[in-house]
Amino acid sequence: PSPLGPTPKLVIDLERLAQLPKEKAGALARYAATIQSQRGDYNGKVLSIRQEDLRSLAVIYDKSPTELTEELITWGVLDPEARRAVDSF
Ligand code: C2E
Ligand code: C2E
Ligand code: C2E
Repeated sequence: PSPLGPTPKLVIDLERLAQLPKEKAGALARYAATIQSQRGDYNGKVLSIRQEDLRSLAVIYDKSPTELTEELITWGVLDPEARRAVDSF
């Protein structure tokens, strides 16, 4: 096991996401809304997503998973702890 503890989850801050301009965050917002709809999970302030979904989002944004993670941290949508979730890719 890692000395830093278990791999953290990728947790999207939905309130922050809703504040961002559509040009930037539109694709992520649609993706998150699709997951919420598939789960029937509509009332959360946050949404835990799969590592696989970050890979898919990276393709959509034409970035590496690491680059997209840095961008989402800059936007305030992911916690800096998320870096450790993506280092294991
Ligand atoms: P599925 O992938 O066949 O998963 C069926 C059910 O298994 C899910 O129902 C959930 O209860 C459980 N499950 C699967 N993987 C996980 C996991 O990593 N953690 C937890 N806590 N439970 C898990 P649920 O939530 O109603 O989702 C229904 C379907 O919606 C899923 O079927 C999948 O096709 C889609 N879905 C839901 N959330 C996600 C997501 O975050 N990413 C993707 N790619 N698909 C999702
Ligand atoms: P946690 O994973 O640290 O999540 C803390 C709280 O963040 C959750 O409290 C919930 O209010 C919110 N949260 C995190 N991810 C989501 C999400 O995808 N959708 C929504 N609507 N809210 C989310 P909650 O529900 O009382 O859960 C407390 C703890 O119970 C969680 O801490 C986790 O350790 C465990 N837990 C809850 N649901 C699951 C699950 O589906 N799978 C696993 N493995 N653990 C779960
Ligand atoms: P979690 O529920 O704590 O699950 C942690 C990891 O355990 C998942 O990481 C996945 O690798 C594995 N896992 C848990 N349940 C299943 C399952 O039913 N099938 C398979 N094949 N693997 C499973 P992952 O995929 O990165 O997901 C991270 C978090 O995203 C999950 O934490 C959960 O909070 C959320 N999540 C992912 N998929 C679903 C889903 O289909 N439904 C719901 N409600 N939550 C999901």
